[in-house]
Amino acid sequence: MSSGRTHDRITLWALPLVVLVAFQVTLSGWLTAVVCLGFMLGGWVLGPDLDIHSVQYKRWGWLRWIWLPYRGRIRHRSRWSHGPLIGTAVRVLYLSLWLSLGGIIAVDLLNSAQRTALSWGDLAGGLRWVLVTYWPWWLALVVGLELGALSHYVADWLSSAAKKKRRKTRPKPKLKRRASRSVKRR
Ligand SMILES: [Zn+2]
Repeated sequence: MSSGRTHDRITLWALPLVVLVAFQVTLSGWLTAVVCLGFMLGGWVLGPDLDIHSVQYKRWGWLRWIWLPYRGRIRHRSRWSHGPLIGTAVRVLYLSLWLSLGGIIAVDLLNSAQRTALSWGDLAGGLRWVLVTYWPWWLALVVGLELGALSHYVADWLSSAAKKKRRKTRPKPKLKRRASRSVKRR
């Protein structure tokens, strides 16, 4: 497993490549910017290591507690947090639940302060309108998030493979230690 800092650096190094590819595909500066925003969020804030007490988790500051149920339910590096597509889907859905709850509480507070007279239906309608009208932006954001997470998965896989290889090529230290101990005893 790579450290948080290594993941941060990989996200930063891969950013120019993401800019190039995103611009080639979208041919839009704004959409490219949104893909890059998603990529950085996916690598630094909404990353796969939210399933442990990680740098990404700490970056949520005083809001970090919202990830405690997620951490409690999901095993570190399981496919629910570190699986391509599924990891991002679970995190986005999970965060959407909290955002919806936050939206409902905010509207309720505004209504009770008699500043607005919104219903849940108004809220759902408004949300649907924003999602449908600006769908290319949302898609760009989600693609960016997935790319950010992908850079993390690849780094994790590579570091695990390198560790396995090192373990295979290294002579077994335990046996050596035992052997030297038995020599001393003699
Ligand atoms: Zn990881």
